[in-house]
Amino acid sequence: MINPLDWLLGLFSLDIGIDLGTANTLVAVRGKGLVINEPSVVAIEKDTKRVLAIGQDAKEMVGRTPANIVAIRPLRDGVISDFDVTETMIAHFIKQVHDKAFWFVPRPRIVVGLPSGVTEVEKRAVHDAAINAGAREVHLIEEPMAAAIGAGLDVSSSRGSMVVDIGGGTTEVIVVSLQGIVVSRSVRVAGDEMDEDIMNYARQKYNLVIGERMAERAKIAIGSAYPLEEEELFPLRGRNLITGLPEEVLISSVEIREALSNSVNIIVDSVRSALDETPPELVADLMEQGIVLAGGGALLKGLPERLTDETKIKVIIADEPMSCVARGAQAVLENIEVLRSVLTDTQWHGPIA
Ligand code: ADP
Ligand code: MG
Repeated sequence: MINPLDWLLGLFSLDIGIDLGTANTLVAVRGKGLVINEPSVVAIEKDTKRVLAIGQDAKEMVGRTPANIVAIRPLRDGVISDFDVTETMIAHFIKQVHDKAFWFVPRPRIVVGLPSGVTEVEKRAVHDAAINAGAREVHLIEEPMAAAIGAGLDVSSSRGSMVVDIGGGTTEVIVVSLQGIVVSRSVRVAGDEMDEDIMNYARQKYNLVIGERMAERAKIAIGSAYPLEEEELFPLRGRNLITGLPEEVLISSVEIREALSNSVNIIVDSVRSALDETPPELVADLMEQGIVLAGGGALLKGLPERLTDETKIKVIIADEPMSCVARGAQAVLENIEVLRSVLTDTQWHGPIA
């Protein structure tokens, strides 16, 4: 039973962490943990620009929409391609959390995690969207930094830590020490590219045209970066390019691994090149502590083994790798006096009050 006073005080200080990911948006609230976990997708009626669905409902429409409906992923490439749609999406998720509280609850403090490639203008747009949605105070943080905090790493320590955050649109590699990012790499190769790899492979090898969702399902079910103890099969369903008829092909995990190899190589190379640039003292720390994987791509089977093989450093998957960024962003608010310098607030507002 929760103490009613604690509960009330909790409401009075609604602290929210948001992971504005390229594939998924997650919201963590102090004392409640993760409260929202939805695809970063907005479905819009083309001619009227009316928003039809946001999140899971909108994702269901991807590849199935009639001609006059588009399902947009406004952050797909790690940059904000559509400001209006992004604003609508942020406002929707913040309101969802805020409306569950009562009218007398003060406006929330929010930390939003953003891909590291976003510009000042984009940061400003996200900041304003959160303010317009009712935030009292908004701070921004680079997603891999939030991931490091969410993964439980001590980012304030002088010891170096490496986090590899593999999302939908981007893979970000950082080395952190003393609350600063010492080395960073960002490549636009991650989960989406792997889905495309599988689509291309099916088309080239089997003349089979499959949808994005089918490719993602195959990747999650049997995709890998390292030989599996037991290789598996997955039924890929699509349309035969030649006959035009529906067809099912049983594809093996060996084939999927081959399909994914280019993307996996690029991810491995980005880790290696970040290591190359890491000062030797910090490399020594990493050898002791290991490399931490976060994001949905961390769940690709065999990725830790593959990375260990290539770097000779042990690799650990963060606990609940897909929610590290949201939990980390929220955790910053609990200790904002100490963690202030991990934030990357928009410069347009001058120093944080
Ligand atoms: P973002 O932070 O960019 O929104 P996420 O961290 O939410 O991305 O990760 C989404 C990506 O992770 C998607 O491409 C999804 O297909 C992929 N993913 C999720 N689970 C798995 C899994 N078990 N194996 C491989 N990839 C996965
Ligand atoms: Mg992410």
